[in-house]
Amino acid sequence: MKVKKSELYISAAGQDQYPDEGKPEIALAGRSNVGKSSFINKLLGRKNLAYTSGKPGKTRLLNFFNINDAFYFVDVPGYGYAKVSKSERAAWGRLIENYLQNREELCGVVLIIDVRHAPTKDDIAMYDWLKHFEIPVIIAATKADKVPKTKRPRHLKQVRETLEPEEEDELILFSSETGEGMTEAWQAIERKMRR
Ligand code: GDP
Repeated sequence: MKVKKSELYISAAGQDQYPDEGKPEIALAGRSNVGKSSFINKLLGRKNLAYTSGKPGKTRLLNFFNINDAFYFVDVPGYGYAKVSKSERAAWGRLIENYLQNREELCGVVLIIDVRHAPTKDDIAMYDWLKHFEIPVIIAATKADKVPKTKRPRHLKQVRETLEPEEEDELILFSSETGEGMTEAWQAIERKMRR
């Protein structure tokens, strides 16, 4: 994918603010601090377009990034975010559940996990939830540069055994540091948009 244009279209607090041109959307989800912003920035060839989920007040918004005027990346605020209040977390749940369950434009979700560790309870819950609603998923295991090449197969096996991904859900090794997995990630995303 050649990214000629990428820009924040809107930080949406609700459905009425979503784009309405019917272009395909790929959502990106992951625990706070997992490396989601870095993943988005790397794919788009930008330094700071997506910003880290640690920014206060931004945890409740869905960020729509317009790419090449052809499709959108939708940055879903990090789940398992410790520092938000109960009511804020409830609002997060409603916004995201509503988006993921009902959005016709949604072609798939890139679920970003940390390849260094086994998927957490939150990761498993998110994956199972997405599958419950039959949403296509790409699992991007990021921070690959932190795991020596010889140990990577073992880590991937652990991911497979913990998440038990469905056959059509691809598992991709990625590094925002080295750019490893970029081609695979784009190919997987493009396949989801063609379905
Ligand atoms: P987010 O909260 O999920 O958006 O996470 P960020 O993208 O802000 O990343 C969290 C931290 O992990 C930052 O310090 C990043 O520099 C680091 N990080 C993210 N991706 C990678 C990666 O692929 N490799 C390495 N070594 N560090 C990464």
